[in-house]
Amino acid sequence: MICDNLKTIQTRINDAAERCGRSPEEIQLVAVSKRMPAEAVEEARQCGQLTFGENYLQDALIKIRQLEPTLQWHFIGHLQSNKARTAAEFFQVIQTVDRLKIARALDRHAGDLDKTVDILIQVNVGREPQKSGVLPEDTEKLIEATRPLTNLNVRGLMTMPPYGREPEASRPWFRELKQLSVELTDRGLFADNNKVELSMGMSGDFMVAIEEGATLVRVGTAIFGPRPN
Ligand SMILES: *Cc1c(COP(=O)(O)O)cnc(C)c1O
Repeated sequence: MICDNLKTIQTRINDAAERCGRSPEEIQLVAVSKRMPAEAVEEARQCGQLTFGENYLQDALIKIRQLEPTLQWHFIGHLQSNKARTAAEFFQVIQTVDRLKIARALDRHAGDLDKTVDILIQVNVGREPQKSGVLPEDTEKLIEATRPLTNLNVRGLMTMPPYGREPEASRPWFRELKQLSVELTDRGLFADNNKVELSMGMSGDFMVAIEEGATLVRVGTAIFGPRPN
């Protein structure tokens, strides 16, 4: 079941990429396993999926400790400073950095752990007050401020656009994030300006996100089915 879903999604990723003249290799599938048991992650791993996204640190740790160390974990939930050490220790990518305080905490702990951590800046493109993320116009300043933090690599941007019933509703938001990333790339703000990551698109709208330039798509329910409460 999970294997079939992964195959279907990979085919849809390839189709979306080809439709807009992109190489499917540019697009990485992050399987969002939040609230799913370790067994489900293991099943996906056996079908070749190696990158997973988690929102809840404590839940994630149970799975990370239990499963193959070769797996790659992306943190995609709201991060608090007092959890920054755990996040820096167990995750390869933190996708949800949206303020300097959290960047500084991650940098300090990464330094203590003698590692560098890849991060994305979460942007609140829809300016929704209940959502995390830096506002588009404050993104440049935030990235500038992380420059002295040598244990962090700012790899790109991430967004969760306002909820829309139709996949097409997300398109303008994805386009806005892409535009912002182009401007910031032109100013040379990312760790590698030749390879800037854009994390956007979920089960309902990942094909639209790919058409608008996503390099990371975060897909949960379309792989694992509905989440238990
Ligand atoms: C839950 C979640 C996803 C996956 O959502 P689905 O609709 O299940 O694909 C992606 N990104 C974030 C930040 C999430 O919290």
